[in-house]
Amino acid sequence: MKAGLLIVVSGPAGVGKGSVIKRARELTDNLSTSVSATSRKPRPGEIDGVHYFFKTREQFEAMIKDQHLVEWVEYCGNYYGTPKEYVSRELEKGRNIVLEIDVEGSMKIRDMFKDSILCFIVPPSYEELERRLRGRKTEDEETIQRRLNRAIEEFQYIHQYDYIVLNDSIDEAAHRFISIIGAEQMKTFRNLELIDRLTSKE
Ligand code: 5GP
Repeated sequence: MKAGLLIVVSGPAGVGKGSVIKRARELTDNLSTSVSATSRKPRPGEIDGVHYFFKTREQFEAMIKDQHLVEWVEYCGNYYGTPKEYVSRELEKGRNIVLEIDVEGSMKIRDMFKDSILCFIVPPSYEELERRLRGRKTEDEETIQRRLNRAIEEFQYIHQYDYIVLNDSIDEAAHRFISIIGAEQMKTFRNLELIDRLTSKE
């Protein structure tokens, strides 16, 4: 069986990563999303085990110590990390898995998994990003400023990504994202077994 694809999705806070991935999952089978652990407090409506595994800083530090995370970062004062077990289990099952993680985490994943696919979701403009971030009404002004400043830092990493996905409309962006997955699955190096079967003489 072919191993699944490990797809990393990054992009500044407010760009709509979650919405694009959610829509893409509605449009295609075989796309799992990893649930990260975080020490951030839940936002209204966020459910433990669905949006994140919410942990205290102490619990998170224990996960680091026990090597339960593929990668982790400290982002705007909170810990975030990808649980190891779920990711390897899904990949072994041949499932394609999406990690929605920040730029530093993505660079670590690229170092560990050379075949991972790095996608960066961009807004049509910086002004539009600010408008979306304020529109969420879930963060105070200081947090919004911190996240906008962080967005500028994150844009510096764009060149290290394989694909840029413009999110001008969620539906369009989801289709763009799915077409990337489709093309990646057709890459020659991911189809060596098939090629072997076709080229080997009985
Ligand atoms: P938020 O607090 O808005 O949910 O997430 C803040 C940032 O943390 C986002 O850029 C998000 O993609 C990133 N993030 C979420 N989970 C992880 C993770 O497991 N690892 C890393 N490196 N970043 C994460």
